[in-house]
Amino acid sequence: MVSHPSTGPGTGDTIQHMGKNERTTVAVVGGGPAGMVMGLLLARAGVEVTVLEKHADFLRDFRGDTVHASTLTLLDDLGLGERFAAIPQRRLDRVAAQLDGGLVQIADMSRLPGAHQHIALVPQWDFLDLLAAAAADEPSFTLLRRADVTGLLRESGRVTGVRYTDRATGEEHELAAALTVACDGRHSAVRTAAGLRPRGFGVPMDVWWFRLPRRADDVAGGLGRFTAGHFCVLIDRGDQWQCAYMIRKGSDAELRAKGIGELRRRMAGLVPWLGDRVDTLESWDDVKLLDVRLDRLRRWFADGLLLIGDAAHAMSPVGGVGINLAVADAVAAARILAPELRRGGTASTAALRRVQLRRWWPTALVQGGQRLAHRAVLGKALSADQDLPATTTGTLPLPIRITQRFPLLQGIPARLVAIGPLPERAPAWARRPTPPGGTAQSRD
Ligand SMILES: Cc1cc2nc3c(=O)[nH]c(=O)nc-3n(C[C@H](O)[C@H](O)[C@H](O)COP(=O)(O)OP(=O)(O)OC[C@H]3O[C@@H](n4cnc5c(N)ncnc54)[C@H](O)[C@@H]3O)c2cc1C
Repeated sequence: MVSHPSTGPGTGDTIQHMGKNERTTVAVVGGGPAGMVMGLLLARAGVEVTVLEKHADFLRDFRGDTVHASTLTLLDDLGLGERFAAIPQRRLDRVAAQLDGGLVQIADMSRLPGAHQHIALVPQWDFLDLLAAAAADEPSFTLLRRADVTGLLRESGRVTGVRYTDRATGEEHELAAALTVACDGRHSAVRTAAGLRPRGFGVPMDVWWFRLPRRADDVAGGLGRFTAGHFCVLIDRGDQWQCAYMIRKGSDAELRAKGIGELRRRMAGLVPWLGDRVDTLESWDDVKLLDVRLDRLRRWFADGLLLIGDAAHAMSPVGGVGINLAVADAVAAARILAPELRRGGTASTAALRRVQLRRWWPTALVQGGQRLAHRAVLGKALSADQDLPATTTGTLPLPIRITQRFPLLQGIPARLVAIGPLPERAPAWARRPTPPGGTAQSRD
């Protein structure tokens, strides 16, 4: 039986179960960016696919809200560009950094190749709702909400499906599947159940996540503020700044004990023009701690099981690229696996290995860059709990001075973040014509 989910973020209160002997061809665990893209693409290949998401909706306290240029191109290919453009959004077309030596532009998206010269900032639930609505048009797609996957089914060592709890009723269920794809994020329950342990790379920071009012005459786009021992990133959300302030890993409790005034003081010192509104942070309840991890599995598959996105490689927030990589993993996996799944209703271990071979190096490359940033910049600076410098004058670092002199070079960081290494294009069978007036073009 196929259940078509309600697509609004507040809906989906009940699970429509698939019958007594629940069975699907592909069980996708987790309805984040990786899981929803995987579900949509496989459904468009005509493969029977069930996405299990433990929450009743896509609303979360924190989900990165970036939709990168390469993902915008993917949406065009899927015939969804126009529907996406109709979602209220902000556009990030340049990234600036406030250094002690002055305000400098470090990435210029107008220099990007292709149809999109920006990163879209959209609440992630709107993005996921769009994917869920498009997938619901496919007869072989099922989304089970409030389905918390708790374990794996196995036969002679092969993974043959999942065990899950309906969070609405507390009932336990089993869903048999020819292939299980874990897209359940960096605390992946499937990974644990499979006995797979990622290699952790160590991370020097956690993040405080909070909002401050934004005025119409503030700088537009994104802004990073860096000075000895203190880092924050401001993301333009129209009438608000979404702020990410980095703290030394494990120092949350110690810093909170100093009172909320400490964060207000730090923010006002770091970004003086925010000083007149830091009082809107009333208590620590306004500040969420985000635990940062960076890790990667050696092997992203087992017999009957594939892991992609953060479940295979948790990404640091450095560069804001994890969503893009998760989406690219899903596109590559669907493209490689769909032919076998359509033909024989199963995916060979050789095909699962090909997915890892394709996606391993762009992942390792990006994580290598993040590790370098952790070691060379963030780790050193955050390890000493330094007070804010009294003045904000100084010389700009040489690479920054070069990019100011030759603005063409600002296209390089823009490309690394907005497109990334090895962007994946939608396979021909997943493409749909763009509605009249849309932006998609065939670029094969
Ligand atoms: C502080 C911080 C800031 C970040 N900022 C950005 C940013 O700005 N831009 C960016 O691109 N990346 C950012 N990232 C990285 C990004 O959030 C991840 O890389 C990305 O979300 C991975 O997508 P995913 O689909 O693999 O997993 P997730 O987005 O984690 O989705 C996993 C899904 O699985 C569901 N799930 C989990 N367990 C189960 C279960 N047992 N059963 C059923 N469902 C389950 C979850 O509810 C969730 O919906 C940031 C990361 C951190 C830590």
